[in-house]
Amino acid sequence: MKFSALSIARNALSGHAKWPRQWRSPEPKSSYDAIIVGAGGHGLGTAYYLAKEHGLRNIAVIEKGWLGGGNTGRNTTIIRSNYLYDESAGIYDHAVKMWATLSQELNYNVMYSPRGVLMLAHTIHDVQSAQRHVYANRLNGVDNEWLTPDRSLIDVLVINGSTRGERLEPAIDQLLEAGYTIVRGVVGAVQTADTVVYFLDETFRGAAEVLALDAGLTVADIAPFEDAPPVAGRGTAQLMLYLGGS
Ligand SMILES: Cc1cc2nc3c(=O)[nH]c(=O)nc-3n(C[C@H](O)[C@H](O)[C@H](O)COP(=O)(O)OP(=O)(O)OC[C@H]3O[C@@H](n4cnc5c(N)ncnc54)[C@H](O)[C@@H]3O)c2cc1C
Repeated sequence: MKFSALSIARNALSGHAKWPRQWRSPEPKSSYDAIIVGAGGHGLGTAYYLAKEHGLRNIAVIEKGWLGGGNTGRNTTIIRSNYLYDESAGIYDHAVKMWATLSQELNYNVMYSPRGVLMLAHTIHDVQSAQRHVYANRLNGVDNEWLTPDRSLIDVLVINGSTRGERLEPAIDQLLEAGYTIVRGVVGAVQTADTVVYFLDETFRGAAEVLALDAGLTVADIAPFEDAPPVAGRGTAQLMLYLGGS
């Protein structure tokens, strides 16, 4: 089967309904050197290695549906190697690299098109887990990077709405530790029920979510500045961590 640019364009015009079947359904023989049940990624991979590495030529792969129509076709959407454990890191990285030449190797277009994969951490627990994965991958030589906004450029005003004022310093220290450098504190006297991150305008919505996570809150604990209580200094900050409480 040839996948020329012309054949792909022609089949695109007919809604990809006219491609011929991609596999053979021969009559079974009386005997085989190996019989593999299931033509998912593992079954096909096993057949491939038996043929390539062990010289077997008389192999049957028996599939009740169509090739790759099991979990491999449904779930294996991301060809990746950013898994956690030391024991498996090498084999996953090897497997990902194999895809680059698999079309030539099999003389069959597997339509591999390499991209990056960006995973989002939504909670402090996600952040901890994602960082663990990233650092474990890097130690194993797997390409992975932990991305954060540049906290050092964001002006954060920490307001203590509590009349008691005891929670201001730990919050500032926490933000400095997380990498913010422009952190100013104002002890206010306004009462509110919850701790909230207020953002100057929509440009800072994402940064507000990150700051909320940095401060041990959730991404939902943010609000626009117009909802903020009238406190000193708010007009100059991009983000405001309003500790609130009593
Ligand atoms: C939600 C989810 C997300 C996932 N995401 C990813 C991902 O992003 N990347 C990734 O690499 N992996 C992912 N995985 C894992 C991956 O999908 C599986 O590890 C992989 O598909 C397993 O391949 P397999 O060949 O063992 O099974 P399958 O692909 O399921 O193949 C088994 C085949 O056997 C056939 N079969 C079964 N019984 C018989 C029978 N009696 N006679 C004949 N044929 C039979 C079935 O029809 C099927 O085609 C994900 C898994 C899940 C559940």
